[in-house]
Amino acid sequence: MRATKIVATLGPASSSPEVLEAMIRAGVDVVRLNFSHGKAQDHIDRAALVRSVAERAGKTVAIMADLQGPKIRVGRFEGGKTILENGQRFVLDASYTELGNNEIVGLDYKDLPRDVRPGDTLLLNDGLLRLTVEQVLGERVQTVVVVGGELSNNKGINKAGGGLTAPALTAKDMDDIKTAMSFQCEYLAVSFPKSATDMEMARQLANVAGEQWRHKPALIAKIERSEAIPVLDQILRASDGIMVARGDLAVEVGNAAVPALQKRMIRMAREMDKVAITATQMMESMIVNAVPTRAEVSDVANAVLDGTDAVMLSAETAAGQYPVETVTQMAAIALEAERADDVSIETDFANKRFGRIDQSIAMGALFTAHHLGCKAIVALTESGSTALWMSRHSIKVPIYGLTTQPASQRRMALYRNVNPLLMPKMSDRDEALTIAERLLVERGVLRPGDTYAITCGEPMGYPGGTNMLKVGRVA
Ligand code: PGA
Ligand code: MN
Repeated sequence: MRATKIVATLGPASSSPEVLEAMIRAGVDVVRLNFSHGKAQDHIDRAALVRSVAERAGKTVAIMADLQGPKIRVGRFEGGKTILENGQRFVLDASYTELGNNEIVGLDYKDLPRDVRPGDTLLLNDGLLRLTVEQVLGERVQTVVVVGGELSNNKGINKAGGGLTAPALTAKDMDDIKTAMSFQCEYLAVSFPKSATDMEMARQLANVAGEQWRHKPALIAKIERSEAIPVLDQILRASDGIMVARGDLAVEVGNAAVPALQKRMIRMAREMDKVAITATQMMESMIVNAVPTRAEVSDVANAVLDGTDAVMLSAETAAGQYPVETVTQMAAIALEAERADDVSIETDFANKRFGRIDQSIAMGALFTAHHLGCKAIVALTESGSTALWMSRHSIKVPIYGLTTQPASQRRMALYRNVNPLLMPKMSDRDEALTIAERLLVERGVLRPGDTYAITCGEPMGYPGGTNMLKVGRVA
């Protein structure tokens, strides 16, 4: 059984029911709908497809709606593109409305002239091109090309070190939040947040839009701006999880800083009971090749060893030639890395303090299961919180999150080492414990003689009410 989860982005290569079903069977736990592409109705249709295909495959799959965020981009060119030579001058002009050429281009992002000063470095097209700002004259940003290359329509602009003022939530994002709530996505990912306030605003909008379904999504902050790094703990506090969005992040902070940041972000997320997704270019070469590179295999394995909840696929599954094969191979790499991962639960617990009853019970279950060599840890949980707390620690014993709420079941699909299951609503505790054991026996998780640790709350059915731990043995 694999503990690390897989997030896969849908796109033209993966939107047929057949391919999607094969991907889900191959191991996709969370499907990402990328709101940078497509219309509202496309996402609504895809969400419905994900739900029905997951049902058919008998798998729990969460949906993550990923907002586009501010698009800091150049305008368009005559003929769609130009070639910039090293050393030449090039102007980015917010007031320029014609098609661009080799000397000048317009800007989608009109505030750029106010965000930069002479000496700043601008990175275009994911950092492939590099310009130095010489002078800002009104709406014109005059630059010298340091690293040239092809520049085509609407390529992205980043500023090295950060400092672009665009707000994280655009008018389009606000509309997209409503669309995403109409299909009650379990996760909402916010692009380019700079502060906790960005996340709080998104949460408020999502909660209001989801009110008619009483749906509150979990919020993921995509960490991809320099400004987000010093306030990471505040952003984490305001979010349910983070994405290590290595694409934009690498452009802003420099490639070399990203691996250490990845480790720090994952560690911080786990310590604060939040989830972490490691994203971008994990299996990039599989867009066109049937096998990953050695470096990609190591990258996925290292993210698993860092303790990430999930590894993410972007273009590999959205537009690649081998979407199903990529998922299969990613799952195999994760499984193998987990096997090699040494577990020392004592050091993991050494400096922890637990003030809450439900949290202490969750930790008690982990400790007990680890030392008794239990086959499973079972959490009867309404919201999924108990399973989340348990999954923040490295333990080889699989965790089963049993809930009566389908939305909680799907949300748990992202939690590392958690198997979400649905169980019927019950008011009697002993009956619930019996049903839970039967469910796990039926699934082949537990066999006669096996011990397991199970937690629940009494009275039953109240979120946050976990107050009991029992060690059971299957008769
Ligand atoms: P994106 O985010 O794919 O939406 O740009 C991920 C990243 O920047 O790495
Ligand atoms: Mn990004």
